[in-house]
Amino acid sequence: VLDIKKLEKRFDTIQVLEDIELHIERGEFISIVGPSGCGKSTLFKIITGLIREYRGEVRIEGAESRDYTQPISYMPQKDLLLPWRTLYENARIPLEVSKKPKGEHSGRILPLIEEFGLAGFENAYPHELSGGMRQRGALLRTFLIESDLMLLDEPFGALDAITRMEMQEWLLEVWQKHNHSILFITHDIDEALFLSDRVYVMTGRPGRIELEIEVEEERPRRREIL
Ligand code: ATP
Ligand code: MG
Repeated sequence: VLDIKKLEKRFDTIQVLEDIELHIERGEFISIVGPSGCGKSTLFKIITGLIREYRGEVRIEGAESRDYTQPISYMPQKDLLLPWRTLYENARIPLEVSKKPKGEHSGRILPLIEEFGLAGFENAYPHELSGGMRQRGALLRTFLIESDLMLLDEPFGALDAITRMEMQEWLLEVWQKHNHSILFITHDIDEALFLSDRVYVMTGRPGRIELEIEVEEERPRRREIL
């Protein structure tokens, strides 16, 4: 699904990414961990085509990322929800973009709002929600984009421990059901090892992949306490 070879990125004179090699097959759950500033979000912006200048190869379904025109499910790290739209109106954006008939919108959106513990907040504006609620709202919107490849940039960073575990379980369930190819950024190595098939560990200045960990396939990805 995604193949990155010899990727280099500099901003002016600063080398941010160096010699990045990364691949993800259909249905894999891959995590990237690394210190703040090592270039994780920059890597995602290159994959999604938000950053178009780089050296090396970034191929999605065989096409170079700057030429790839299909939608990609992407949850950015910040600028999550549009402040002038309610939660419901934010969630509706992908359906508007893909020109889904209006009659189908609420049937797709409301069950997810319920599942994400946001029922009753459909008409709330982002500033009326907590940070964790905004993050769940953004994740929900990401899941309404129809794309096999899914890029999640620290999607659980603002969540309390319990909600985080619930969302991890939810994500694993959806991933297994839909066979998504997920690339997941986190600071939390335990979270990465719990969720993923493979973990890429990065170091900074310049951002490089130092280590690739294949996680044991036959392991429980359930927690008993929930
Ligand atoms: P965090 O874990 O804190 O989110 P990150 O690994 O996602 O960090 P990036 O946001 O990718 O880090 O930033 C990597 C480096 O690139 C940083 O040094 C940052 O200052 C620099 N950088 C990012 N975007 C730009 C830009 N548009 N112009 C110049 N430098 C940038
Ligand atoms: Mg980042």
